[in-house]
Amino acid sequence: MKQNTTSSCLKCKGCCKFEEEDLYFAPLFTKQEIKNLNKSYFKLYKNSKNVFQIKLKKQNNIYICPFLRDNHLCEIYEQRPFDCKFWPFMFMKKENKVYLCFTPELCSETEGLSKQQTKTLTGKAIKYIKDNNIKHLIKTHKELVWNYEDDTRIIEELDLIFTRATRVAAAGRHGKQHGVNRNK
Ligand code: SF4
Ligand code: SF4
Repeated sequence: MKQNTTSSCLKCKGCCKFEEEDLYFAPLFTKQEIKNLNKSYFKLYKNSKNVFQIKLKKQNNIYICPFLRDNHLCEIYEQRPFDCKFWPFMFMKKENKVYLCFTPELCSETEGLSKQQTKTLTGKAIKYIKDNNIKHLIKTHKELVWNYEDDTRIIEELDLIFTRATRVAAAGRHGKQHGVNRNK
């Protein structure tokens, strides 16, 4: 996804580029998040009015975020969207409720963490949600929430009720491949 920890990400280089079957992972940006960016890099996400998806560039058989530099740093690192910042955490909807979820195997930095390390990391994510009013962001941008997939670990309920599914992985593939993010 989306580069959250520069030093680990520079070694891994697993994010910000996608194979054709993983294109549904391309990062989403809110209207606010693209305010100071070149609008031609984005298209409206599905039927949304205030969420956009980045247009990836095809290079050989790989699709790359246009903000990814040759040195594998994010050109808009300080302005990268929540969707990129939050990786490898995600919000998922299950039976009309929204949960904070985590799939350690999707990121080489979080794969194989001890229980204590995972607890520390998830504690940071929970604090980030509270400090940045992410609950409001999710409430107003339902597109940022995935449909729940069985192989994802639920960490905490977000105390939000959603009646409609929003972001959907391709045929249940979500969480089954490594380093497909866009970010960090
Ligand atoms: S998979 Fe994890 S460590 Fe690798 S580039 Fe992505 S965020 Fe960074
Ligand atoms: S962190 Fe997000 S915006 Fe930056 S290069 Fe990666 S996918 Fe693109």
